Amino acid sequence: MKILEDRIRRDGTVLAGNVLKVDNFLNHQIDPQLMDQIGAEFAHQFKDAGITKILTVESSGIAPAVMAGLHMGVPVIFARKHKSLTLTDNLYTAKVYSYTKRVNNDISIDRRFLDKEDRVLIVDDFLANGQAVQGLLDIAQTAQIKVAGVGVVIEKRFQKGHQLVEDAGIQLEALASIAAFEDGQVVFAQD
Ligand code: 5GP
Repeated sequence: MKILEDRIRRDGTVLAGNVLKVDNFLNHQIDPQLMDQIGAEFAHQFKDAGITKILTVESSGIAPAVMAGLHMGVPVIFARKHKSLTLTDNLYTAKVYSYTKRVNNDISIDRRFLDKEDRVLIVDDFLANGQAVQGLLDIAQTAQIKVAGVGVVIEKRFQKGHQLVEDAGIQLEALASIAAFEDGQVVFAQD
């Protein structure tokens, strides 16, 4: 997605540890117009996948997931990382190792929001080693629901997540695909 690549070139900063900082349009301050275009693009790419719900993980996945849900006309569920007084039992849970925070989180989704007939699209801001996606795949497996696609705003193709999703035989769409970081610059994959 050209507009997204241009924005990453303009506003992204490459940090140590292969981390791309994009906090002025995606991870802290959010650009609603760009999110709208991102949502429309996901809706276009998964239009034939029969999606009934979108799953993501709080907090950075929520903005693109909600916009995709708006364009697809389906509800969006975000897995919670923190225990909540109103989220007590009857949960699907999975363990996720956080790439940026370097800690393990339990993520949870209330069982009431997933039905066996659901075909879900997993949406997230980044795909790095695939731990967040794997946690949602684990929940989907326990809930016996079909994962019909994975859509990420930015993938770092040189890390393990891309292969993990491909090996699971799931349609993967990344709106910007990073092949490498070289001398503090982003190199996009060509295809
Ligand atoms: P994974 O679980 O695929 O290893 O990492 C994906 C999660 O870690 C995303 O939900 C995202 O929040 C965070 N993450 C991974 N790599 C980056 C990065 O380069 N920049 C930012 N801002 N977040 C990242």
